[in-house]
Amino acid sequence: MRTMDWQPDEEMLAWGRENFLAIPVEGIWSPEDAGVTYKKVSEHSFALMMMYNHPDSQQHHERLKVLMGECGYEVLEGDGEMVTPPLNPQSHIEQEFMMKQERARNWLCPDCDYPLANCDLETRVDEYVENVEAELSNGEHADIELWRCTIKCSGCDTDINMDPSDYHLLAGDSSFMRCEINNKTYIGLDRKQLKELADAGVLEGQVLGGKVDGHKVPPWMWGMYCLVLDKSPISIRGEEE
Ligand SMILES: [Zn+2]
Repeated sequence: MRTMDWQPDEEMLAWGRENFLAIPVEGIWSPEDAGVTYKKVSEHSFALMMMYNHPDSQQHHERLKVLMGECGYEVLEGDGEMVTPPLNPQSHIEQEFMMKQERARNWLCPDCDYPLANCDLETRVDEYVENVEAELSNGEHADIELWRCTIKCSGCDTDINMDPSDYHLLAGDSSFMRCEINNKTYIGLDRKQLKELADAGVLEGQVLGGKVDGHKVPPWMWGMYCLVLDKSPISIRGEEE
């Protein structure tokens, strides 16, 4: 793959203009699986904070630099730290996740600067947005469901929409792996919990498919073995009859 000739298409430019503008000054941006991290240091510039010592990261950076440039941003490279990723893929995944969690702990409400980590993260509304075509890592395309999670800011009561993976970073596994559908709470169990229930002979849960009681199930809950609790006051927005 060559970098020098690469130019972003119109769709990518539109995406860039919108997203780079939406990142607040001092905000950190780590594009998924690119091995690079940027900080927006002013209204018109980003600084490279970290880059993995990996040929793909170098290429991602070169392309993002072109994209940012086309969108009207200067990219400062001086202090970018080179990080060598661990050879063990599992440690690498854990390290990435911890770095992202660390950043999520500093997220603030865009309206009142209240720390999102201190909001009531248990009370979350999941909303199906649309189906989009996404490119998989093997180059094939697939239709995937886009969802968003909404929490309420404890500082100013504003609804805050976020990407489910961002909610996951902020709230952790146990909150993420439970959801409210049609007045029931589904609590996903991990292997340790399943083993304990199996030993106690009380496996009375339910494996979630794409729909339950005629309602869509958030994709991160598909195939999860869940405990089901009745009478939850919360439902999936937009699906009420
Ligand atoms: Zn707020």
